[in-house]
Amino acid sequence: MIRCRHPLGDTGDDAYRHEECGVFGVYGHDDAAAHTALGLHGLQHRGQEACGIVTYDGDHFHSHRALGTVGDNFGSQEVIARLPGAMSIGHVRYSTSGETVLRNVQPLFADFKFGGLAIAHNGNLTNAYAVRKSLVDKGCIFQSTSDTETIIHLIAKSEYSPVVDRMIDALRQVEGAYSLVALTREKLIGVRDPYGIRPLILGRMGDTYILSSESCTLNILGAEFVRDVDPGEIIVIDKKGLRSIKPFQKAPSRFCIFEYIYFARPDSLMEGKNVYEVRKQIGAELARECPVEADMVIPVPDSGVPAALGYANQSGIPFEIGIIRSHYMGRTFIEPSDQIRHLGVRLKHNANSGLIKGKRLILVDDSIVRGTTSTKIVEMMRNAGAREVHMRISSPPTDHSCFYGIDTPSQQELLAAQNNIEEMAKLIGVDSLAYISFDGLYRAVAGEDRNSEAPQFCDACFTGEYPVRLTDQEDSPGPQQLSLLAEQE
Ligand code: SF4
Repeated sequence: MIRCRHPLGDTGDDAYRHEECGVFGVYGHDDAAAHTALGLHGLQHRGQEACGIVTYDGDHFHSHRALGTVGDNFGSQEVIARLPGAMSIGHVRYSTSGETVLRNVQPLFADFKFGGLAIAHNGNLTNAYAVRKSLVDKGCIFQSTSDTETIIHLIAKSEYSPVVDRMIDALRQVEGAYSLVALTREKLIGVRDPYGIRPLILGRMGDTYILSSESCTLNILGAEFVRDVDPGEIIVIDKKGLRSIKPFQKAPSRFCIFEYIYFARPDSLMEGKNVYEVRKQIGAELARECPVEADMVIPVPDSGVPAALGYANQSGIPFEIGIIRSHYMGRTFIEPSDQIRHLGVRLKHNANSGLIKGKRLILVDDSIVRGTTSTKIVEMMRNAGAREVHMRISSPPTDHSCFYGIDTPSQQELLAAQNNIEEMAKLIGVDSLAYISFDGLYRAVAGEDRNSEAPQFCDACFTGEYPVRLTDQEDSPGPQQLSLLAEQE
């Protein structure tokens, strides 16, 4: 998909960590669009800049794509009524500023000689530029700057016949992270890349099948969780039922460990683990590894809450809500300028001054990206009269960028890439700063130390060990590849 930006923290630096995207699909329900809208609403935390739904009613495809949130765009019965059909896919998206244009909003749709196909993507292709350049050289005309369109062109050019074979042929030519949902006249298709970097799950509600980035959507719909789609698996759902295909060369699973730390909703199940429980475990491990005397443990809302609870339970230090977050404004990272971002932080978080005054605090956050938000929050705690402010981070230092669908800042802009922990503590203004260790994180998430021989997760933003080749970066380093191509259009 488009270079969905994200995270690293609702906290921390959500001003700079950017959400990835979410995908959703329904097969076999008369009200597929309404269910998809509800599903996308449950995935809204994965992207708030744009959203879209495509349905098929047996004769025609119907599409509505727009900038803004799901509530803004699919909240009215009138819009849903214009999306008839029992099959549907949808997408929520975050992108870099400047790319927020309608032509990039998904699902993308194209007419092929075999009929129409809509596709929605969470992730990022690491050879999109190289493939796109070769397609442009052969005369392909791109309408968006989305790497998802690369897949559409590869499907169009494939010499295979059934649509699933065309998709397999196309996906064998791309590298990177992708969880896809696609819709044809007959089928709902879900695909997870061979490393399983981004999540995709299968759910069911009677005879209706559901594909979703996260399982939290199933509760909203009253559907049951069936299972995670396996890495490298293609799920094909049509009138004959559900078929599973594993056509790609088997690769070691490298699920994004940051889904557990920050991205996913805490009420989701990821790879069989409840995200909330994992975050609490991480907090407990953090307390064992990085103790400090204090009067209270305070989460940086909202994503720091479960880890702070785990820290408080393990340390015996009371958990308190010392920062109140306003839920009635957009996430600060949506605002483009530093000036607005800084204003946004103040509007969004407020110190619970009566509680904090004269106290020694442990602030628990999930990550630090550039440090801007952390600095503001620490300053807020000091201004509210905190005696000491200690910061504990429930991930190792983020010192590498993500190229798999989370558009973090360049390495030069990452605080941990440029400073050691003491320097960071000074810059942020805390009395002490400590991060969970790699082994501690792996113990909390997987129950065992990190084994560098066979890591079970992608942890590249902490280690620089990228599981999938970064072809575009190696061939043409720099952040603007797709944009440069766009300028040639
Ligand atoms: Fe997740 Fe890997 Fe990207 Fe880090 S580099 S955010 S672990 S996919």
